[in-house]
Amino acid sequence: MRLHLHLTSSCNLRCSYCFTPPAYSEPMSEAVAFRALDLGWREAQGPLSVVFTGGEPLLAKGLIQSIVHRGREMAQQGGPKIAFRVVTNGLLLDEPFLTWAAAQGVRFGMSYDGVQAAQDAHRLLPDRTSSWALVQWRLRQLLHGDRRAAVLLTLTPQTVGHLERSVAELLRAGARYLVVTPSLADAWGEAALEVLGQQLEGVARRYLERARKGKAFYFSPFELHCTQTDPENPRCIYHYPPLEVGVDVLAVDPAGFVFPGSVFVAKGPASRWCLGDVFGGISERLRRQISAEARAFAQRDELPIRGLSATRCASLRWISVGSFDALGEAALAYDAVHLPIADRVRASMLEEGLRPLSPEGEFPLEEQLSIAGPF
Ligand code: SF4
Repeated sequence: MRLHLHLTSSCNLRCSYCFTPPAYSEPMSEAVAFRALDLGWREAQGPLSVVFTGGEPLLAKGLIQSIVHRGREMAQQGGPKIAFRVVTNGLLLDEPFLTWAAAQGVRFGMSYDGVQAAQDAHRLLPDRTSSWALVQWRLRQLLHGDRRAAVLLTLTPQTVGHLERSVAELLRAGARYLVVTPSLADAWGEAALEVLGQQLEGVARRYLERARKGKAFYFSPFELHCTQTDPENPRCIYHYPPLEVGVDVLAVDPAGFVFPGSVFVAKGPASRWCLGDVFGGISERLRRQISAEARAFAQRDELPIRGLSATRCASLRWISVGSFDALGEAALAYDAVHLPIADRVRASMLEEGLRPLSPEGEFPLEEQLSIAGPF
């Protein structure tokens, strides 16, 4: 199970595509956080992956440290294996926290869109100035200490033209895990889709070149196809049953209200997406209903939502069209460009006997759970 803890709604960036836009609220209290951890502990059928998010979770560094210590203590008493990942915009990363995290085995996912033009298209400071110079050296610092940190790129029609150059720069900086999420709430016109094809072809060439040299990197748009090394291996995220909203994924907001995934948190406790709270418990009936809605659509055989499709993740479908049971134009158009390229990458990998950088070799399953959808 993956448990997203939204430690605060405050943030020191103002990204234009944010699905939980910053707003001031009281940060999560230790009492709420510990009850949330208990909830994840009780509900996890297998390993538990705790993802610290927000807003910007590093505004609550002390709370992160308390939760991790508590989680480690709980793990010593048996129960599920537990892993922690901080999803941060990087602005508040500093040496003492990185040193502490390394000692505790806490992983990072840093949201960063790549070259300056890409970052500046959406990820601005509150005064609308560039955040790039402030975060890019912190990213280097992070990657220097942890080569298993994931870089989380959001791809939009405005930034797609920078993808290949961003990937090249990130690889030069030492990144090896690149997780790309297309913004499917945007309209992807013909011109943007053509650029998407060119950029993905360029990344595909680099992906294969590096794999041939034994320096494979992880690039999420190609991975499901390429990480088929051992279909029987239950330790690998790609052979783990798909995560279901509300069942395998829960999110807790700063006040302790529980939702079936991070994307629903912004809808608030009065919405139909609130399952309950960490003190009073959660509604099993509502939880089952939401997961059944998400699952029913995903199981329709005639739909192109298998494997790597951008529409595979129920949360992404919900962001793009406001419901689980429809495929948005943007998702279909994106898939029509993306999937054939991913297919060709897979065919080349198989034909040449190349090995992908599989997370299973580097991360235990509880850590892998934090680097795949849904949100
Ligand atoms: S850093 Fe994250 S939480 Fe903050 S504005 Fe950007 S997307 Fe939203």
